[in-house]
Amino acid sequence: MKVSVILTSYNKPDFIDRVLKSMMEQTYPNWELLIMDDGSEPDTINQIKPFLDDKRIQLYPHLVHPVNRLVTVRYATLINEALTHITGELVCYLTDDTVYRKDRLQKMVDVFQSNPHIDIVYSSQRVVHVDQHLIETMTFIREADHLLEHASFQVDHCSVMHRSRLLPLIHEKFGQYWDDDPKHWHHADSVFWMRLNHFATFFPLKDELDTTYKTPQSFHHMFSSMPYDLIDGTVIQREGAYYQIAHKYLHEIDKRWVDEKKRRAVRVPLLCTMKYESKSMLKVPNYTVVTADHGKTFYYIEDQQKRRFASKRDVQYFQFHPKEIYAISNELLQVLDEGKLIQASSAFSPPNRRLFKWKKIVYLLVHDTFCRIDPELVKLFAFDHQPIKLYPSQFPLFQEGKPIVPLYMESLDEFNMSLYQTSGRKHSS
Ligand code: UDP
Ligand code: MG
Repeated sequence: MKVSVILTSYNKPDFIDRVLKSMMEQTYPNWELLIMDDGSEPDTINQIKPFLDDKRIQLYPHLVHPVNRLVTVRYATLINEALTHITGELVCYLTDDTVYRKDRLQKMVDVFQSNPHIDIVYSSQRVVHVDQHLIETMTFIREADHLLEHASFQVDHCSVMHRSRLLPLIHEKFGQYWDDDPKHWHHADSVFWMRLNHFATFFPLKDELDTTYKTPQSFHHMFSSMPYDLIDGTVIQREGAYYQIAHKYLHEIDKRWVDEKKRRAVRVPLLCTMKYESKSMLKVPNYTVVTADHGKTFYYIEDQQKRRFASKRDVQYFQFHPKEIYAISNELLQVLDEGKLIQASSAFSPPNRRLFKWKKIVYLLVHDTFCRIDPELVKLFAFDHQPIKLYPSQFPLFQEGKPIVPLYMESLDEFNMSLYQTSGRKHSS
């Protein structure tokens, strides 16, 4: 039986060599390897080249425009393409930070050869966390010991082999093989396992047949702890310049607005910012408190309009610290259109991008909707003011918006993970 191995690769120059060696050392010889490279830099490609002398190995290079990187789950898109090229009766998947044990293919093929009724096999996996010097910091074993009817979030990308004959069934039922919708970046493998499970169960092999490495730069880890949309008003740093997210666009802002003491740039994986197109520079960033008359009147900039605070007390009430207030010129202030007054009492008219608390839950006011925000994200996005307590009459004044939670939580909710026994481990591809 021929095994088609699909390897997705993107800029892992320190790892790719050992991944490919682990294929060369396989005791089972009847395989083909499709290297789906996603536009890696030359240092990675140069590591791959020597292996192309082996006739069983094919490199499929790709050119990806940066703005397209997050349009789909890249590895799923690459796998879908590879699945149209494969010639094996069996298929398995490999990432560029995982190595197969040398008997990995042999052991799995043995199961298929002696059990015609088995369609999917998975094995135990060694998960090794390494630091930036590739030194091991933590290891655990993801055990394979059950027949799985729900393999999602239990089994990793690289621990599975299945018969190719399932593929047309999946395509027929779901209209594609792997679901490459970007909301599945973190777990497109799990979505595919769900599809596989529709037709067959996963048969366990107790042996630890692969080792996967998790590095601090791991894009998935950073990405999955972010919300799918970056919070409006977030400031990021890129190549020495600062930018603010405003309505799905990235606007450059002057360095003076990002003073360590006053406003922090948030560390965001570069790929998360790529879906935002760049637009012109903002004269004054949004969500900034300004005064042009030495603190007699204060304005809050929202959507490039100025909203006057009814009084200085309102500035304090909404938890703005004196050090967050910027002095600007009158000319600059005049350029901005006048927005709605900000006040706490009489008509409650709060500023956006502030934290509020209602019944012990913290909300962020975003475009006049209260969005529940996960405590991890409060920290990650550097909100350091106290949430403002809401009165019973205030909360119903605004609609509730989509909760702001890390992507991985959103996914767990979506799949109603309580249905499955997840053993409490956070899965990653
Ligand atoms: N990958 C890709 N294109 C990208 C980013 C990642 O093809 O733009 C591939 C990568 O080569 C790997 C898989 O997607 O095979 C998972 O990515 P990674 O291992 O970086 O994520 P991790 O699980 O380590 O967080
Ligand atoms: Mg990985």
